[in-house]
Amino acid sequence: PIGLVDGKIIDISENIVPMEDRGHQFGDGVYEVTKVYNGHCFALQPHMDRLYRSLRELAIPAVYTYEELTEFHELLIKKSGIMDAAIYLQITRGVSPRTHSFPENVVPRLTMSIRPSSAAIDKNKAEGCKAMLIPDERWLRCDIKSLNLLGNVLGKQKAKSAGCWEGIQVRDGIVTEGTSSNFFVVKDDVVWTHPKCNLILTGVTRTLVIEKIASDLGIVVVEKKFDEAFVKSAQEAFISGTSTEITPIVTLNNQPVGSGSVGPVTHKIQKAYWMLIDKECQR
Ligand code: PLP
Repeated sequence: PIGLVDGKIIDISENIVPMEDRGHQFGDGVYEVTKVYNGHCFALQPHMDRLYRSLRELAIPAVYTYEELTEFHELLIKKSGIMDAAIYLQITRGVSPRTHSFPENVVPRLTMSIRPSSAAIDKNKAEGCKAMLIPDERWLRCDIKSLNLLGNVLGKQKAKSAGCWEGIQVRDGIVTEGTSSNFFVVKDDVVWTHPKCNLILTGVTRTLVIEKIASDLGIVVVEKKFDEAFVKSAQEAFISGTSTEITPIVTLNNQPVGSGSVGPVTHKIQKAYWMLIDKECQR
């Protein structure tokens, strides 16, 4: 499998992480995952906009322009020949002797990889998945797409061990988001999702659902806080994410959500999301 380090194509199996890369030692860096359909990156601009925001929030200098980052994505697609892929990109603060505070004169380090899209999750998209509520044990800057994913990793594993696809996190009684996805419920024809703030990642897919898909379909979305009891009384639930796309949730904590099958609002949003991909990626 191929990757890219600071603009140069590499074989990722040969790439050695420098011992003192701050991403390695502190999780001091940010990342993005972008999907490739039919050889075209989908929604690259909003992903890169969010990357620049994450860098600003951590005071990591942005040493690559949008044009360069676009070129690197295209290069990976071309060199790998993978037409349906996920491209992972990370920027760390750089390599420097280990000390907590920011080192001076450190140069941010960019690494990327490309992998074929996993077909394993297509069944979930069609039939819906199982999810469970779990405590949100993450830090208070979940709006930054940082490399510190231990809370998310532990949460996902807890869900997986219980036979679920996703863990839906709950902080102080309020349902926030999945461990690698945003969470929505449908109640009385209104779609609800947690407001944009430091407690969730503003998903690119979430924004497309709210600002493009729901608005085009005339579906009302409210960005308001809700609790576990509200979720249990909902007719439909789904998660959104770059790889997840729109995945219905049909059981939550082993109880059916609504009818226990994919609901009509979720289905409409999912179809519209795929049409958006078809259009942008000429699929
Ligand atoms: N929330 C979390 C915690 C995530 O890790 C992700 C994606 O990885 C998302 C939400 C969805 O974001 P996006 O739609 O930009 O992929």
